[in-house]
Amino acid sequence: MRYIQEYRDAELAQRLLTRIHELATSYDDEIVLMEVCGTHTMAIARTGLRKVLPENIRLLSGPGCPVCVTPNHYLDRAIAYSRLQDVIVATFGDMVKVPGSYYSLEKVRSQGANVVVVYSAMDALKLAQQVPDKKVVFLGIGFETTAPTVGVTIKLAYEQGVKNFFVYCGHKLIPPAMEVLIQDPDLRINGFICPGHVSTIIGSQPYEFIANKYGIPCVVAGFEPLDILQSIYMLVKQLVDNTPTVEIQYKRAVKPMGNQKALQLMREVFDVTDTEWRGLGVIPKSGLKLSDRFAELDAESSIPVEVPPPKEHPGCICGAILRGVKTPLDCKLFRTVCKPSNPIGPCMVSSEGTCAAYYKYGG
Ligand code: SF4
Repeated sequence: MRYIQEYRDAELAQRLLTRIHELATSYDDEIVLMEVCGTHTMAIARTGLRKVLPENIRLLSGPGCPVCVTPNHYLDRAIAYSRLQDVIVATFGDMVKVPGSYYSLEKVRSQGANVVVVYSAMDALKLAQQVPDKKVVFLGIGFETTAPTVGVTIKLAYEQGVKNFFVYCGHKLIPPAMEVLIQDPDLRINGFICPGHVSTIIGSQPYEFIANKYGIPCVVAGFEPLDILQSIYMLVKQLVDNTPTVEIQYKRAVKPMGNQKALQLMREVFDVTDTEWRGLGVIPKSGLKLSDRFAELDAESSIPVEVPPPKEHPGCICGAILRGVKTPLDCKLFRTVCKPSNPIGPCMVSSEGTCAAYYKYGG
């Protein structure tokens, strides 16, 4: 297929759906499939896929939204940086609106804090070069998809000797979080719709332990309706045939070994570390920190700051939603108090958040 319309072919979609229904009927139990990518969460909600699948197939949304999995203490520290006279915090638009324990970056910006929205880490580096009397702190959040671009920027800043550019590193790695979800006694995941964007970088190989060790099928999926339908078909087929393996549906973008250049750059700039995820707690070896060579660009160790103890909003269940054990419909604040115009938790703020997807397109 070459053109976008071909990924939205209604007849082909109907044929795939029929096959999925046939396979699901032959499976005696519920089939729980989880997506761990915010773009898949949005695509599934937008296309109404849940409504046309067999009753015994349940689609769960996992921790696939980078803004949403970033814990409050990270946001609180970013806010503390923005209040320092000589610091400018540079970040993506989504992050500005996310409520931390006490405030959002947007709120403190309205009170005079230094917060600038940028479209890339490179924009933040350019800003640092324009304002040499200020320290520019870029908020490095996101999964394996964004880490290479931040890594390139760190390397460039280091090589050019830019002394006022720093990264507050909150990058996270998806496969260790998937293993935590597999071991969660409240979940019983039968298959993973693996993230398309992340997999363009890491490939499909890092998911093999899921099929080999846990016997859970994995399919790396694209983002068009037919991509997701075909991926569900492939997962259910593996389940019914009892042949758990890792397959790539999104072949036009993903190779088994991923993008070796990007992976090499990540190995050069970052070390793997334990890190905290909202809803999942501290997961060993699931985050990135700047390697010793680039440590002078690490905001956390270079710029000391006082941060108040973190706290969660008592009514917000974003953590449970990110674990896949609750949906936004279980939250008493959903649509009543919490809306995109008044987000209480990150899952309502981000364009990839599950609550935002349910609000916009229904459950
Ligand atoms: Fe949190 Fe709002 Fe989602 Fe409820 S609806 S879980 S308050 S973001």
